[in-house]
Amino acid sequence: DENKRQQESRKSIERYKMGSVLGEGAFSVVYSAIDLLTKEKVAIKIIKKYQLDEKQRNNVLKEVNIMKLLNHPNIVRLIDFIENKDYYYIVQEIVSGGEVFNQIVKFTYFSEDLSRHVIVQVAEALLYMHEQVGIVHRDLKPENIFFKPIKIIKEDQKTKILKLRKSDNPNTKLDEGKFIMNYGGGGIGLIKIGDFGLSKQISLNNSDSALKTPCGTVGYTAPEIVRDMKYSKEVDMWALGCVLYILLCGFPPFFNDSIEELTKTVAKGEFKFLSPWWNEISSGAKICVSKLLTVNPLHRYTVEQFLKDPWILEFLNRSENLQ
Ligand code: ADP
Ligand code: MG
Repeated sequence: DENKRQQESRKSIERYKMGSVLGEGAFSVVYSAIDLLTKEKVAIKIIKKYQLDEKQRNNVLKEVNIMKLLNHPNIVRLIDFIENKDYYYIVQEIVSGGEVFNQIVKFTYFSEDLSRHVIVQVAEALLYMHEQVGIVHRDLKPENIFFKPIKIIKEDQKTKILKLRKSDNPNTKLDEGKFIMNYGGGGIGLIKIGDFGLSKQISLNNSDSALKTPCGTVGYTAPEIVRDMKYSKEVDMWALGCVLYILLCGFPPFFNDSIEELTKTVAKGEFKFLSPWWNEISSGAKICVSKLLTVNPLHRYTVEQFLKDPWILEFLNRSENLQ
C-alpha cells in the first residue's frame, strides 16, 4: 500500500550520493557518501548478492542485527540498512581517519602513550560488548579499528600538553581539552571498532557461552581457536594483546609465511619481545602484553582486569590529573 511504498522509497538508496572508496574487504566495498536529506557524511558498505551463497547472505543479516544491538562511542554506529535485488547496503557512521592499520604503516610504530590511548578505547568497546550486550567480535585487528583524526586547538610546547576539541576526546576521564603530548604525531583522536562480519552473540551468563566455529584472521586467532577447542570472549582479549603488541613495535607477535607453521606457533602461544625493537619499551608494557597473550584463557586478562593493569592505570590516572 501507499504507506509501505513511501517507507520503501524513504529507505531507497537514492537518498545517498556516493563518493569515494574508503576500503575494501573480501566481499564488500565501502564508500563514503552524503545523506542528501540530512547532509550528513556516512560510510556505506556495499555487498553484491550474486557472489554470496545462502549462508553468506544470512551472515550479512546477522552482521546488521548485531550492529543494531550496539550503541557505544567506541563502536561504529549503524545508520540504515537497505536491500534490493542485487545489493545489500550497510549505512554506517563514517570514521574519517580510516584504519589504524594504515597509521601504523605510516609511523612504523606508536609511542607507549599513543598505544595506550588507542588500546584503552578498544578495551572500552570490548567491556561494553562482553559485559553489557554479550557479543564476541572475533575479528579484532588494526584493519578493523578506525579512528577520527584529532584537531589540536592549542599546544603547549613546554608541558607537552595538547588542547583538543571536545568531540575528539576519547573515553578517558578527560573532558574539555588537555592531553598528554607524547603521541608521536599519530594524529589519532576517537577510536571506533567496526566490521562485525564475524561477530557472535553469546549468553551474558558465562556458563553456556561456548563457541566452536573456527574463524578470524590467522595471526590474531587465539590458541584455543587453532586447537579447535571451545572458546568465548577471551579470544577478543588475545586479539587485543596482538593489537597492543603491534602498536608498540610495528609488527605482529605471530608471523610466518607458512600458514601451517604460523598455526603451530599460535597453538603454542610462543612469542618474543624481539631485540632491538623492544629494547626501549617499558617492562610495564611487556607485562601487560604478556597477560593478554596468555595461552590458558582462564588465566588471560579479562577486559576488566586489563583496564586495571598498572601500566594502563598509570596512563588513565595521569590523564585524569590533568583536568
Ligand atoms: P570486510 O568485512 O569486508 O573486511 P569492513 O567492514 O572491515 O569489511 O570494511 C572494509 C574497510 O572499509 C575497512 O577496513 C575500512 O578501511 C573501511 N571502512 C569500513 N567501515 C568504515 C567506516 N564506518 N568509516 C570509515 N572507513 C570504513
Ligand atoms: Mg574488515
